Amino acid sequence: MGASLSSIELLERLIAFDSVSSRSNLPLVEFVADYASSLGPKIIFDHNESRTKANLVLQYGPDEPGGLVLSGHTDVVPVEGQRWLTDPFRLTKGELGSGEPALFGRGTCDMKSFIAHSIDAISRIDLARLSKPVFCIWSYDEEVGCLGAKHLAEGFAHFDVPTPASALIGEPTDYGIIVAHKGHGRFRIVVRGKAGHSGKPDSGLNAIEVMGDVIALIRMTSKELRADALQRRVGRHADFFPDYPFGTINLGTVRGGSAINIIAEECVLDVGYRTLPGDDPAGVMKLIEGRIVETVLPEAKKRFSEATISIDDLGNVPPMHTTEPSRLRDVLHKITSDPSEGGVSFTTEGSTFSGLGINSIVCGPGSIDQAHQANEFIRVSEFDKGPDFVQTIIRELCL
Ligand SMILES: [Zn+2]
Repeated sequence: MGASLSSIELLERLIAFDSVSSRSNLPLVEFVADYASSLGPKIIFDHNESRTKANLVLQYGPDEPGGLVLSGHTDVVPVEGQRWLTDPFRLTKGELGSGEPALFGRGTCDMKSFIAHSIDAISRIDLARLSKPVFCIWSYDEEVGCLGAKHLAEGFAHFDVPTPASALIGEPTDYGIIVAHKGHGRFRIVVRGKAGHSGKPDSGLNAIEVMGDVIALIRMTSKELRADALQRRVGRHADFFPDYPFGTINLGTVRGGSAINIIAEECVLDVGYRTLPGDDPAGVMKLIEGRIVETVLPEAKKRFSEATISIDDLGNVPPMHTTEPSRLRDVLHKITSDPSEGGVSFTTEGSTFSGLGINSIVCGPGSIDQAHQANEFIRVSEFDKGPDFVQTIIRELCL
């Protein structure tokens, strides 16, 4: 297949792959690799353990250090339970309420447009003139904890490719230049009590009641983190995260008990938390764990000596803060004519690339306000800027 599709035709193809994180992304990355192959890049499939998904790494240009990564994730969030007016997996041209033309479909802003722009931009560059390599890294499972990027980082040293200098993460920022984001950690708390007849409440230990104490403790911790930050009002991250310049905690899901007349034996709570750059990515979890061991667990054991409360780390995506100057940074300011830099509360694969020593900046088409929503869209005016945006960056950094 010759590389001759336009950005919008490419987007149409990409949207048509139902690459929700729970499904395989292989059909999508195989299509992209096949499409790109006529331009002769080095092609690496970095499969997950079960070989049901893969990160696709394409290297164009010479084996020189100092190149540029164009980074995007191929997975999208589910559409179930959302009120879509069009088929989410068919790119549909339409209009917003204001009459402005837009492209609708799952992944239009988060973030298949950037992938389409990158593929298009590369096909229109004289690759023989590249003095530094351009890498496309299209990952899997970003939406479920950056698992693909994590896997890629662990194996990167074995890929036999030079280490790039910078990475552009094309997440939807309305082309705003984002140099900082929070981290996101997840953990699971399991309380095990003792079952019994509900008519004899003292014959067992109700795990849901104990979890109630755990939840109260987490809410208290959450309030402390907020009060702490508000006291130092002009905190170190107030510029980047003006609304929430502190770590935040979310009680995600809770389930427990087996019947209305049985003392609940088990209760499970999943907790998410967001940390500031510079903080220990697992800090909030450790803080809560320490407090549970000190207070809630001894109380539970007084009532049932074999009571347990376990805390399992479900992994975290570290925060990112890119402070060093870089050519990518300068070029982004130049082409967006925007001198400002900001932070966002969502995580990206940027922190994973930063961990490899690659200077990472998040900047891409579309708005995060439309991400994960029903009737996700990108404005045609924003979409149309994309191919030149990527092409200029490649020219400035790699020719
Ligand atoms: Zn995304």
